[in-house]
Amino acid sequence: MKIYNFEDDPLAAVPNIDEQYMQEALKLAKRALAEDEIPIGAIVVANGKIIGKGYNLTEKLNDVTAHAEMQAFTAAANFLGGKYLKDCTLYVTIEPCVMCAGASYWTQISKIVYGAKEPKRGYSTIHDKILHPKTTVISGVLEEQCKELMTSFFKNKR
Ligand SMILES: [Zn+2]
Repeated sequence: MKIYNFEDDPLAAVPNIDEQYMQEALKLAKRALAEDEIPIGAIVVANGKIIGKGYNLTEKLNDVTAHAEMQAFTAAANFLGGKYLKDCTLYVTIEPCVMCAGASYWTQISKIVYGAKEPKRGYSTIHDKILHPKTTVISGVLEEQCKELMTSFFKNKR
């Protein structure tokens, strides 16, 4: 029997920071699921510190704008005491919608990392120039786990 030795794996010594932060966003998505909200979670990170968290609250707040990203942006801006999130990264489990991508433009956020694509309302399906020109994007981080939460949520709704 072959036993895999992780200590010999050079990649094991380099933890994937994006995956670690996405795990935090996934925890928030699971909290949303537990509260019967669409399971999307988001965090904002600056200098290795989580400065804003959010998850979808549209049902609880009766507010169509209460998306995870909007909560996280507001929390991060409150933390920083300023509206711009220039040296920050947004981690969100699902591709932002047009509204949240538009809000991210106004924050001038440096980077957006998302899990799974949103084929219906994801900003990139509508227009890929909604983001701020200085915002870089990474997609597909923990994609399957992010997508699975959404799939199981909507399966239970039918
Ligand atoms: Zn949104």
